[in-house]
Amino acid sequence: QQIRTRSELHRALERREFRVFYQPIVEVMSGRLAGVEALVRWQHPERGLLHPGEFLSMAEESGLIVPIGALVLEEACRQLAQWHAERRRQGIGPLALGVSVNLSPRQLVQPHFVHQVADILRSTAVDPGALWLEITEGALAGDAAQTIDVLEQLHGLGVRLSIDDFGSGYASLGYLRSFPVEALKIDRSFVDGLGRGTEDSTIVGSVVALARSLGLICIAEGV
Ligand code: MN
Repeated sequence: QQIRTRSELHRALERREFRVFYQPIVEVMSGRLAGVEALVRWQHPERGLLHPGEFLSMAEESGLIVPIGALVLEEACRQLAQWHAERRRQGIGPLALGVSVNLSPRQLVQPHFVHQVADILRSTAVDPGALWLEITEGALAGDAAQTIDVLEQLHGLGVRLSIDDFGSGYASLGYLRSFPVEALKIDRSFVDGLGRGTEDSTIVGSVVALARSLGLICIAEGV
């Protein structure tokens, strides 16, 4: 059921009802936990825990995705810093763990977005190289010059960039050449069909080969 009026989302922000959950990203060869993806949920007072599918389109339409996204980014960095600090306290040594945060195209075109990211990195003392920002192909389709500029600035901060839902959007592969991207995340619709349809297996195999030959990390969603 798609609802969520603007005012309802507004109230949820004020009441701090958004929660961040973390999905593991595992390195296949070693089995090592390489990172986590931060995913937003809405702890609704009456309806319980809501998934993004139930409120994200309204959040995008209303522009409230901007403050919600900022909140998720900050919380994810704060959490990562805390995990790193716990490891240090226990003397376990540094944890090569990254956190991935999904970006809306709307966040990317905010005038002070790069500043905001830099501020969050500074205040949480998170290593910029541990922060991965995920952008969809759709976000790259807009004003290319402006997008390249923002992505270059983020890259300049030391932040890593990945393409989310790779293969499901409309974008030219040329952006792989012009944008400072370091990882491809294969859309889950292709991963779901692995071992069932030969088409999906072929597509996934081709994306893995593409990523490998471009020197990019490849992540399969929803394994
Ligand atoms: Mn994602």
